[in-house]
Amino acid sequence: MLSIEDLSVHYGPVHALRGVSLSAESGRITAVLGANGAGKTTLLRTISGLVPSTSGRIVLDGQDITRVPAEAKPGLGLSQVPEGRGVITELSIEENLKLGGLSRADKSKPADLDRIYDMFPVLGERRDSAALVLSGGERQMLVVGRALMATPKVLVLDEPSLGLAPRIVTQIFSTLRRLAVDEGLAVLLVEQNARSALSIADHGVVLNLGKVVAQDDAQVLAADSNLRHAYLGF
Ligand code: ATP
Repeated sequence: MLSIEDLSVHYGPVHALRGVSLSAESGRITAVLGANGAGKTTLLRTISGLVPSTSGRIVLDGQDITRVPAEAKPGLGLSQVPEGRGVITELSIEENLKLGGLSRADKSKPADLDRIYDMFPVLGERRDSAALVLSGGERQMLVVGRALMATPKVLVLDEPSLGLAPRIVTQIFSTLRRLAVDEGLAVLLVEQNARSALSIADHGVVLNLGKVVAQDDAQVLAADSNLRHAYLGF
């Protein structure tokens, strides 16, 4: 569904990604793991179109989207949940969700708010409240919901578990799992929390200093104690 082919990125003299290749398949969760500075955020910014690549290709469903501008990507079926839970605090929860629906890939279908409220009932209960009142976990649900309003084929998430209580992380991760299994969504999940990410992922990719140092079934990576100690911190 989404394939990254031999991608390299420089920031001036800094070679942040060095020939990275990986793919995120429909119906599966692919976790990208690695320590600080491994290149995870650079990878996501390059996929979303915020950072230009020096070489390599990004292919979505057979179409080369390497040079497609960031704002056009949701309309092609690629939505991103950036780190930091940016919501428009002055707008209501429902208005924030509707903004996500404006760039939906499949405009033949109406924007489906109820689907998001079924997934995250707390958002439905407070739909008319300003997003300002939401807790960190609820904001994370809102940004995931907003990205899903665009009816993506591929959902890319940057550190969704950061700073959240384990109970909320479990809820968000199980929603991602359901979306992959039941709806065939391709999920690309970037996480420093390798243990949690591998527990829900099908496949894992480990980055270090801008290179892929391992990629395999999530269970195989989680069982590799040398790899865990060297790169995954658990
Ligand atoms: P973290 O989890 O700490 O965000 P990361 O795995 O996301 O780490 P990146 O932020 O992608 O890693 O950084 C990869 C490399 O690129 C690092 O060496 C970093 O210092 C460098 N880098 C990132 N952004 C810039 C920038 N704007 N200018 C110069 N170098 C940068």
